[in-house]
Amino acid sequence: MRFDTVIIGGGLSGLVCGIRLQKSGKNCAIISAGQSAMHFSSGTFDLLGRMPDGSVVENPLEAIDRLDAGHPYSIIGKEKVARYATEAPDFLAGCGITVKGDAQSNSWRITPTGERKPAWLTLGDFTPLTSKNEKIGTKALIVNILGYLDFNTKFLADSFEKQGTVCRIASIRLEEMERLRKNPSEMRSTNIARVMDRDNIWEKAASQVKEMIKDEDVVVLPAVFGLKNAETVETMRKAIGIKTVFVATMPPSVPGIRTQMTLKAEFERAGGRFFIGDSVIEADFNEDNTVKSVATYNFGDIRVYADDFVLATGSFFSKGLIATPEKIYEPVFGIDLNYEEKRDGWFDRNFWNRQNYISFGAKVSEKLNTYVDGRPVENLYAIGSLLGGSNTLYEGCGGGVAIISALAAADEILHK
Ligand SMILES: Cc1cc2nc3c(=O)[nH]c(=O)nc-3n(C[C@H](O)[C@H](O)[C@H](O)COP(=O)(O)OP(=O)(O)OC[C@H]3O[C@@H](n4cnc5c(N)ncnc54)[C@H](O)[C@@H]3O)c2cc1C
Repeated sequence: MRFDTVIIGGGLSGLVCGIRLQKSGKNCAIISAGQSAMHFSSGTFDLLGRMPDGSVVENPLEAIDRLDAGHPYSIIGKEKVARYATEAPDFLAGCGITVKGDAQSNSWRITPTGERKPAWLTLGDFTPLTSKNEKIGTKALIVNILGYLDFNTKFLADSFEKQGTVCRIASIRLEEMERLRKNPSEMRSTNIARVMDRDNIWEKAASQVKEMIKDEDVVVLPAVFGLKNAETVETMRKAIGIKTVFVATMPPSVPGIRTQMTLKAEFERAGGRFFIGDSVIEADFNEDNTVKSVATYNFGDIRVYADDFVLATGSFFSKGLIATPEKIYEPVFGIDLNYEEKRDGWFDRNFWNRQNYISFGAKVSEKLNTYVDGRPVENLYAIGSLLGGSNTLYEGCGGGVAIISALAAADEILHK
């Protein structure tokens, strides 16, 4: 089997890279093992929320100059980062995903526990805040779905009340949800969203919420609507009739899964082949140290050939990187990694502190080419959270690194 480009990993970075390449005329395949970080998404793509020293970033583009030379943004270069960050909302809109946000000024998102964190692009489901302390309204009606445990109304009320919003908590009960409620482990966001989508049950939910409103000026709901179609969320807002703020739930993330499915559909609509549930297990190299082909579990003896390969397998979370007590390695190509040799430096025993291992990852050139045993591999690119040099969780830059490195690698391949 032969393609122009084979992308390994179908999360945010692999899909963005594949869509850009496929729409530009390359014949691409994405081979992807399983779920991606998008299934756990907060509903925002983060460009840069905090500097490595912990200081809060207001203007991500302006802050890039102050990052270490090994950070993916420094490697790609400020000018390109600014260009791709500015173009990202239109790129996503072209895939059918509506986002709000500005690379020169972070907004704020509300986390499932009511905390507020800097955000770059916010999915249309959510309401970005302009400042950390913005009041969502004067009086809020926080509504849960009876029996749903992954939406903590009390935490949210406590946090909104700190900003001076008076909160009332209520629940809606829907007959159609009763079968799920018999087993509390079935009351998960995606199952609820599926029931809501079926026969437009969400209309009943919106109408119950509307009847509950007394003198409140804002309704707060869990983001468990519109698994298949983002328009459901907008239609619900209209049906409820007052400001309605959807808040991210504990995983799985309904808006994140919808975004993943939308990007996959866009890649396939453009003519790309997406092989889901398959893993790339090994590769062979040409004499000039370029990659010749890869093998996967499902294709067995049939090897997959391409001119270029993009490694978008994520970090430890997605098994793009593997840690043993002795070492950290990348399992498909054995590419060179940047990481601390001494295990003591991998993590901080305090779970809440910055964890060094998150910043370990692929060593790349300014073109995002990888290295094996110190030698560059000119047709193998690494993108997304597999890249070393950024602490995506601590710095709040995961979505930005994924989208920007994906567009940068795609352009390198297109302009070779
Ligand atoms: C739990 C969690 C929540 C996050 N939430 C946010 C957020 O809300 N906002 C934000 O900006 N950032 C968030 N991030 C950061 C996140 O890493 C990036 O935003 C981005 O989604 C990473 O995309 P990726 O494509 O690089 O990797 P991933 O999403 O990890 O995707 C890698 C894919 O590669 C596949 N794969 C791995 N090995 C193989 C193989 N050998 N063969 C084939 N396929 C393989 C995996 O199955 C997976 O599908 C979060 C990260 C985590 C871990």
